[in-house]
Amino acid sequence: MPQIAQPTDMCIIVTYRCPMRCKMCDIWEHPTKKEEEITPDEIRLLPRVKFINITGGEPFVREDLEEIIEICFTKSPRVVISTSGWHEDRLIALAKRFPNIGIRISIEGLACKNDELRGRHGGFDKGLRSLLILKEMGVKDIGFGCTVSNNNSADMLSLYRLSKSIGLEFATAAFHNSYYFHKYDNKITNKEEVCADFEKLVNLQLKENNPKSWFRAFFNMGLINYIEGNRRMLPCEAGLVNFFVEPYGDIYPCNGLEEKYWMEKMGNIRETPDFQQIWNSEQAEKVRAMVRKCPKNCWMVGTASPVMKKYIKAPLIWSAKNKLRSLVGKPAVLDKCYYEVGQDPQQGDLRENIVL
Ligand code: SF4
Repeated sequence: MPQIAQPTDMCIIVTYRCPMRCKMCDIWEHPTKKEEEITPDEIRLLPRVKFINITGGEPFVREDLEEIIEICFTKSPRVVISTSGWHEDRLIALAKRFPNIGIRISIEGLACKNDELRGRHGGFDKGLRSLLILKEMGVKDIGFGCTVSNNNSADMLSLYRLSKSIGLEFATAAFHNSYYFHKYDNKITNKEEVCADFEKLVNLQLKENNPKSWFRAFFNMGLINYIEGNRRMLPCEAGLVNFFVEPYGDIYPCNGLEEKYWMEKMGNIRETPDFQQIWNSEQAEKVRAMVRKCPKNCWMVGTASPVMKKYIKAPLIWSAKNKLRSLVGKPAVLDKCYYEVGQDPQQGDLRENIVL
């Protein structure tokens, strides 16, 4: 069996139950049964990594979330929960017990836009209130996560300004289609407006005095590139440095798969309780070979961030060049290049009816 390098990033989807009713995600229509969801003992079987993201569904519907987080902190120094912020009291109680926890509250705009897109009245208030309390408690790794769809890119900029004014992190995404979201018609139709707003965000982030924000500007340029329908700027290496665990124990390379292109798991932690056996299996290698030829061009933080670190020269040179431009009052140059770093030229080839 070949020995593959160890993964550094793991995303655990702890449930598909969710109180929200988002327009760009239908997970809530396909909830898991509580008794089917991955258990803390099964999470113990997963490897040590550098970063764990806990997501759902809504992770805070799990009554044993504290136990899950306790296990996760034995496996990684950094654990970040992606949440709607709906269960305020549970969130604050968990942060009291684990002050090093990271929290990203998914908010899609200011109050009206957020509540319209997330389908529950009062979601914005709950999310903002929770973040303000966490801030007061001294929890450091906290912020908004904003997914841009149609008609909320102007609000994204307001949310960015709000987050900067109160000292919060600000993460972005664009909506995608995938089996995970149960969505296949997420398509940005007002591309010009959305891309122009992302361009404004890129320029605002370059003005900041924080190199992390310049890298985020590069990531956001990648989102413009994705929305325009171009090839990924850097290759997708899902299943090599990162993986996703489903509530049913399945291990996937990513959460961007669509059956019309391909969809194959690397293994299941319930069927093979030795993670290394899954990671080094022929099946996992087969999945990696499919990733190398994957026709999609997703640009999501889970699979973009590891390659931005691996091929750091690209974001580094771009950020340095554009920070200098920003300092003399010039706008960023949006190269949106396809960086040749030895990837399979078939990757990102979105031909219709492609068969892998
Ligand atoms: S491009 Fe990468 S993240 Fe997207 S579906 Fe293909 S393998 Fe998954």
